[in-house]
Amino acid sequence: MPAPITHHVIAGKGSPESAAAPARTNVNPATGEQISAAPLESTRAAEAAVAAARDAFPGWAATPVGDRIQFLFRFKALLEARAAELADIVVKEHGKTKAEAIGSVRRGIDCVEFACAAPVLMMGRTLPQIAVSTSFCRTEDQGGVGIDSTVDRVPLGVCVGITPFNFPVMVPLWMWPMAVACGNTFVLKPSEKVPLSATRVTELAQEAGLPPGVLNLVHGGPKVVDFLITHEDVKAVSFVGSTRAGEHIYKTATGAGKRAQCMCGAKNHTIVMPDANQGAAIEGILGSAFGNAGQRCLAGSVVVCVGDSADWLIPGLVEGAKKIKVAPGGEAGVGMGPLVDQEALDRCKHYIELGAKEGATVVLDGRKASLPKGGCFIGPTIIDHVRPGMGVAEDEIFGPVLSVMREKTLDAALATINRSKYGNMAVIFTSSGHDARRFKMLIDAGMLGINVGVPAPMAAFPFAGWKQSFFGDLHANGEDGPRFFTKAKVTVARWL
Ligand code: NAD
Repeated sequence: MPAPITHHVIAGKGSPESAAAPARTNVNPATGEQISAAPLESTRAAEAAVAAARDAFPGWAATPVGDRIQFLFRFKALLEARAAELADIVVKEHGKTKAEAIGSVRRGIDCVEFACAAPVLMMGRTLPQIAVSTSFCRTEDQGGVGIDSTVDRVPLGVCVGITPFNFPVMVPLWMWPMAVACGNTFVLKPSEKVPLSATRVTELAQEAGLPPGVLNLVHGGPKVVDFLITHEDVKAVSFVGSTRAGEHIYKTATGAGKRAQCMCGAKNHTIVMPDANQGAAIEGILGSAFGNAGQRCLAGSVVVCVGDSADWLIPGLVEGAKKIKVAPGGEAGVGMGPLVDQEALDRCKHYIELGAKEGATVVLDGRKASLPKGGCFIGPTIIDHVRPGMGVAEDEIFGPVLSVMREKTLDAALATINRSKYGNMAVIFTSSGHDARRFKMLIDAGMLGINVGVPAPMAAFPFAGWKQSFFGDLHANGEDGPRFFTKAKVTVARWL
């Protein structure tokens, strides 16, 4: 039976799309069962969502921030209570393992907690007595007629969020809780590959008592995105997804006068020094390369072995990767679920073939692993002797395909990594403080791990990609979050 068309949520109500509208049919990637159909070209719904957000803005912006965050406390409690239900939806439509899905919901809840600090985070600043007015002042009154200056942080208006498939609960929570805590209203356009998770979370926000129109959700593909990011009533655009889409969205949105932040794709490197703790390096790299089936912007997809570290690292990685159980995400003992869809599976297979053609050595071939039937499964893959310039060295594959490069020295490894067009994350495994510090000083990437496989920043820190991994100025989360979702209003005042 075909899956029903997933509804939008506009002005606090489920808003159905016509069954005849163009839609993307999504299947459970572990089973092939049809589970959803995301409308693709719903610009009418997008117009209604922006109108609802625009109408809700004056009342919401005027609501005291202390009252605005009361809603977030209730919403957080609901997320806690429904975490298992949300994780099940993520497992079903994305393919994550249950443990990964629970972890991702948890990280989303962290963002809601952080947004509850909005009264402090959006506070302004004051500099009293920047000058003394002499013209209208009696000498004895000088203290009373000085001139003061203040800067207030005020909300922007209607903000838009465009999100990717790979963290369907967490990534939208990077955006709209902070945006609405700061007094904005919001239109979320989640990935058309995973429409169910964000829809359920938006329903929970309504259940928690968020006034109608403050958060609206509209489904769609690129046509809807382009409509939203150029709409005259939209003031800011927060995007997470591929570099290709992000660059287009950044240029289009800023060209239309919007504030924009675009967190984009990645090719992340892990340096392994000969003196590294071997167990920690192997475990950290396996988790980073194959966790979430490699579908993470913080996946460590390239290892750079320095000196003779490859001698112990490669056998250790191959042995560990072979033990990972590839199965539907809800199964007991599963280590890796399926890829999100057939297109992702085909892309991984293409790159494994390309790596071999380009002269690298496929030491573990995920195409040949023992895999469940009927889903988008592939096993962990390790490709050794990868050289700069090869497709498997440069391109984001976004699957469980780990490339291994070899360099003689740390400086050669740093030079190789710094040539990458991406700069999201980089990691070093070493027991030398000197080498770790040199890495930290010289690497061109925004999120670093030292003996940590996936250095994901907690919500109080910015998600700080560099180079082609980010377009904009202020990142998501951390202090950048409230700065992105507010603008400065400076007042110079004199009381006579
Ligand atoms: P994607 O770019 O295909 O889609 C992301 C969003 O952009 C979706 O909502 C989609 O509808 C929209 N979109 C896609 N193409 C568009 C176009 N041409 N014009 C307008 N809108 C368009 O990304 P994805 O495949 O869903 O997600 C995976 C990507 O996201 C990877 O590259 C990954 O590294 C990246 N990602 C980055 C971060 C980060 O913080 N840097 C976090 C998670 C994922």
